[in-house]
Amino acid sequence: MITKFIKRILRRDPMVKHTQANNTGAPKRIPKKAHRIDPHLLSKNAVKVTHTLQQAGFEAFIVGGAVRDLALGISPKDFDVATNATPDQVQRLFRKARLIGRRFQIVHVTFFGKGHPEIIEVSTFRALLDNAGDHVAESGRILRDNVWGSQGEDAARRDFTINAMYYDPSSETVLDYHGGMADMQKKTLRMIGDPAKRYREDPVRMLRAVRFAAKTGFELDGATRAPIAKLGKLLNDVPSARLFDEILKLLMSGYSWAAIQGLKDAGLHHGLLPLLDHILDTGADSKGANDFVKLALANTDERIQSGKSVSAGFLFATLLWPDLLKNWKANSAKGMANIPALHDAMDDTIATQSSGMTIQRRFESDMREIWSMQPRFERRVGRYPYRLIESPRFRAGYDFMLLRCATEELNPAIGQWWADFIATDVTGQDKLMAGVKNESGSSPSPAKRRRRRKPKAALPPESAAS
Ligand code: ATP
Ligand code: MG
Repeated sequence: MITKFIKRILRRDPMVKHTQANNTGAPKRIPKKAHRIDPHLLSKNAVKVTHTLQQAGFEAFIVGGAVRDLALGISPKDFDVATNATPDQVQRLFRKARLIGRRFQIVHVTFFGKGHPEIIEVSTFRALLDNAGDHVAESGRILRDNVWGSQGEDAARRDFTINAMYYDPSSETVLDYHGGMADMQKKTLRMIGDPAKRYREDPVRMLRAVRFAAKTGFELDGATRAPIAKLGKLLNDVPSARLFDEILKLLMSGYSWAAIQGLKDAGLHHGLLPLLDHILDTGADSKGANDFVKLALANTDERIQSGKSVSAGFLFATLLWPDLLKNWKANSAKGMANIPALHDAMDDTIATQSSGMTIQRRFESDMREIWSMQPRFERRVGRYPYRLIESPRFRAGYDFMLLRCATEELNPAIGQWWADFIATDVTGQDKLMAGVKNESGSSPSPAKRRRRRKPKAALPPESAAS
């Protein structure tokens, strides 16, 4: 009796504003034998969250990308839960629960286990905002999003049919409002509702379309693809921090090369990263640049697909390297000394990026560190190699240098030399350094070089690479 009463009180909340009932229809209930989701792929913590909410009398489901990935047989990288409990009600049920966000209020429930803490994102069913005047900007873009609604409405405001399925771990049933499961079988990515209207509401959905198509290998449905060519320019209105997050997700999806090709095919790359324009628009003359970026992205995809970490700073350092190299060479040709020429080029390269999606400062310092380490890999005598190995970001700089060797922008023998140097003991290292001294035509340490050839202080990148 008392528990029932408490449940009723908990469920009553003055913030709950149901909008007019929308004709969102009844969901298709898909039983286990049809969806074949393997319960072993579920996060125990996500199941704990749905159980706790259900025990307290609420509806709760695993939702969104996690259900899509589960249905594809992929282990989801994170789990979202949707419920009819309001954020306050959710917060009261969990010890480690934090209210996050203003435009889109959600609750983060954190679990501390053996490895990294796991955060389960819990969101309250949202209403459709068709008639909620003050929530929508003139362009149709949604500004605030905290009007609660029914599950059917919540499903209708999600982006793609395959992202709008709800899975109840207790009954192992999937609720499917928009034919997501049928689209999964057809390998189709289909926008819910009128695609043009949905892109106007949130232009980032165009980038999401490209990202999910690359990730799943699905085709964009014709009507979902068609408006993108005309509406792509709306991405200019999206705050740059959000664009940056979305591009980062795209680059870190494990399918970045496919996604970038997708951006190009959809005509969406212009103005996102000036560098993408540069790489994707230029022809055979920049083949070297293209090869380098392609290799760097393939390398990133491979790392992500095998569960290794990737630093965004490293990734951006690779994407901008061709541009930096061009600026560096131009500075050297003007007679600037090698190192100042590099640093000046780094400033220029970073400044050019600020005309499009700005690369956040926290990544900028990583990029600068990786770049400025590069000439140091060519000083392979005396104390230099030891000092370089001790620098805290050596591994990143080294991996970067190996990529340069793989495209032969830097002499591959240098990469091999470093691989040997790391693997051997002090005696072996001495031998390797002696070998450099005896290498015919190899560049001596810059200090000695300057003493010998006073007027020619500049060492252009190409000669350093030979
Ligand atoms: P990922 O694997 O990248 O996490 P995801 O589908 O889970 O993919 P999220 O950004 O985590 O993507 O979003 C979770 C869910 O929220 C989506 O599956 C979708 O249902 C909904 N969603 C997210 N962003 C939007 C958006 N811009 N418009 C409509 N629905 C969205
Ligand atoms: Mg997700």
